[in-house]
Amino acid sequence: MQLTDVDTDAEFRAQVRDWLHDHVPREPRPMVDRRAGREFDLAWQRTQYDGGYAGVSWPSEYGGVGLGLGQQLIWYEEYVRAGAPDIGCGFVGVNHAGPTLIARADDEHKAFHLPRILRGEAVWCQGFSEPGAGSDLASLRTRGELDGDEIVVTGQKIWTSEADLADYQELLVRTDPDSERHRGLTWVICDMSLPGVEVRPIRTMAGTTEFSEVFYDEVRIPLRNVVGGLGNGWSVAMSTLGFERGTGFLREQLELARYVEDRLAEADRRDPVVVAALAVARAEVRAMYAMTLRMVSRSARGLDPGASASMIRLYYSQLRQQVERLVVDGADVDGVVLGRDALVLDRYLDGYKVTIGAGTKDVQRNIIGERGLGLPRP
Ligand SMILES: Cc1cc2nc3c(=O)[nH]c(=O)nc-3n(C[C@H](O)[C@H](O)[C@H](O)COP(=O)(O)OP(=O)(O)OC[C@H]3O[C@@H](n4cnc5c(N)ncnc54)[C@H](O)[C@@H]3O)c2cc1C
Repeated sequence: MQLTDVDTDAEFRAQVRDWLHDHVPREPRPMVDRRAGREFDLAWQRTQYDGGYAGVSWPSEYGGVGLGLGQQLIWYEEYVRAGAPDIGCGFVGVNHAGPTLIARADDEHKAFHLPRILRGEAVWCQGFSEPGAGSDLASLRTRGELDGDEIVVTGQKIWTSEADLADYQELLVRTDPDSERHRGLTWVICDMSLPGVEVRPIRTMAGTTEFSEVFYDEVRIPLRNVVGGLGNGWSVAMSTLGFERGTGFLREQLELARYVEDRLAEADRRDPVVVAALAVARAEVRAMYAMTLRMVSRSARGLDPGASASMIRLYYSQLRQQVERLVVDGADVDGVVLGRDALVLDRYLDGYKVTIGAGTKDVQRNIIGERGLGLPRP
């Protein structure tokens, strides 16, 4: 595997670096007013599209740049280097709904949705988890009854990130009432403005309302919104989760690497314990990124990445918490925290969610055991 840029990569990197230098927003993203946050995220997405850099590895016929995953990595490396903002509410659309549509949807859906995601005109959310179906997703019960050329959806989802801001949803429902487990599920595009969809935000321990419960009361969704075929939803959902756990969090990994570098640079050299712990964390983050490069390289050559997405996801989530803990201990925060230390505490609290979202650490371990090590199913 080639780990350094070839000539064309170096040229691409230089172009990207210059462009990001001139275009990265300098003002902070609004964090309290969620609608203002949405406008900020979409405007930044539109700027990337106008600059010719939205969807680096997406097909050019649907508005992407049409380059490979190698260039996509370069884009993210430079993106983080330039201090560009988190993707915010664009996460689902860009990182897994769009890739799922590219892989599994028909041309009509691709032509309609992909350019809208890239141009920053539509926000997506994911309606998979339910109160009784998180790790055990196959036990989901939200019903989709077939009625002519519509699916009538009734039920409830939970932990739907950004549902209050979303235009569309990746919705997984049970369309065969007699089916059990993985069979009889359907992945369908739900327009969040349809009558009968009700979004109720949930407040987290970090004080944010990024998640919601979503209720469906006889929501009539056109049958043509089904992606991948009726009853084939489990397979489409596995594609979605593959993107979410795999290439979907490249930026986060690179951001963690940069965060550790910055903390190491400013660490007090008279405290060798902290310096040593940060240095170990830096080595681990680099090792994780090497695993990611290997996974991307294998995928680009059409080879099965095996359980590597789960291994990287598990490694990342544990490292992220380890680093946040180190930094919060070093910042000596207790009681009322303001200014920079408040950000440290926010990051620390935020770090808890990464061992749960996109499958808990135990679920990732199960996948590694079964698919990576060939152990029997639990
Ligand atoms: C930041 C974040 C964002 C999220 N965004 C979304 C979203 O947008 N859309 C969406 O649909 N969902 C979303 N979720 C929900 C997420 O997918 C679920 O929380 C997750 O799958 C776990 O399900 P659960 O909460 O029901 O926990 P449970 O499945 O009830 O798990 C409880 C505990 O039991 C353990 N456990 C369960 N089964 C096993 C097993 N077989 N082997 C070993 N241990 C097991 C788990 O590891 C966990 O510790 C999000 C969650 C987070 C934290």
